[in-house]
Amino acid sequence: MPETPIPNVIRTLRFKLRREGVAWLEAAAVEVNQVWNWANEVSYKAARPYSGPSRWLSGFDLDKLSTGATKCFEHVGADTIQKVDAEFARRRRQFRKAKLRWRVSRGSRRSLGWVPFKAASIRRNGRALRFCGKTLRVFEADRFLGIDRWRDGCFCQDAVGDWWLCLPAPVVIEDIPAAEVDVGIDLGLHATATTSDGAVLDAGRAYRDLEQKIATAQRRGHKRHAKRLHRKASRRRAFALHRFSRKMANTYQMIVVGDVSSPKLARTRMAKAILDSGWGLLRMQLQYKGESAGRCVRIVSERNTSRTCSACGALSGPAGVNGLRVRLWVCGECGCAHDRDVNAAKNILAAGRCSPSVCGNESSPRHAPPSRTPRPRKARKARDGAAA
Ligand SMILES: [Zn+2]
Repeated sequence: MPETPIPNVIRTLRFKLRREGVAWLEAAAVEVNQVWNWANEVSYKAARPYSGPSRWLSGFDLDKLSTGATKCFEHVGADTIQKVDAEFARRRRQFRKAKLRWRVSRGSRRSLGWVPFKAASIRRNGRALRFCGKTLRVFEADRFLGIDRWRDGCFCQDAVGDWWLCLPAPVVIEDIPAAEVDVGIDLGLHATATTSDGAVLDAGRAYRDLEQKIATAQRRGHKRHAKRLHRKASRRRAFALHRFSRKMANTYQMIVVGDVSSPKLARTRMAKAILDSGWGLLRMQLQYKGESAGRCVRIVSERNTSRTCSACGALSGPAGVNGLRVRLWVCGECGCAHDRDVNAAKNILAAGRCSPSVCGNESSPRHAPPSRTPRPRKARKARDGAAA
């Protein structure tokens, strides 16, 4: 008798909502924005009072203060308000700011709609779902019917204006034993990813391929069409990365990735190519897919990995901006011929096996714990100190 598999991993499943619920959700999103902005104002006043000691409000404090607020709202309920409070407090702690940006409900700089909910407030009603007294229908209802339990999630809107139901649900992931021991992955522009075994994920041209069409649509003032094309590009990019990261997670027991970051490099001339490569997305996919398959995923510093010879460890490789176009090189110390990216991937793998190892490959500094004092005040003090 075959055993029924036990769901072991939480995955956020996305369902597109049918058109008829959109107006209701947009009205609910306006109320969510009001709650968010109220929380922003109240917590800022508490953090910077006109007199007396300052207080850093938590999500629970906001919950207490917002008791009875449901009377003012027609769409959202108490659980949504509490989820907004919790998310606001979390974001504020994360960014260590006394005040966050306002959520804007109308105009051209409108925030994309977002309505969070608690698991218990979504109920199934036939093939549809019930939320706060409104029946909403999703596409792919059969897939939705296949889920029997879920956790707290949200409704969210994308730039095109479509609404999505994001439902974290436990799903079954089959445990495939890894065929290979370990792999290093070098992230780059020539190829988005190169492994130490020589496998290559070609540079995504998701955006470049659609660039002309997007430009045409924008010139003609077809904003919605341009947004659709942008969404198409991002889906193509994600698809290629998903396929690659799934293959890696299924094949290797240990995966080591470099820590190259796109926001820094996106300010350079290579910005479009860098943002089109999706390094951060790939790293995130490798992490969660690796975790759920029981693999070890490590992120190591990329420093010097392309200059170091993976055979003898000498710093004999091409360096600097001019060295970027050197694809193949021969080590001056040991005479080994290297492919630039494969060599870097091998060094990354070596750094992951025993960190810290090759040539100053130290692990990146840990993030400092969030401080309770808001940052701007601290900066002002430091500046005053320097002036004195
Ligand atoms: Zn060498």
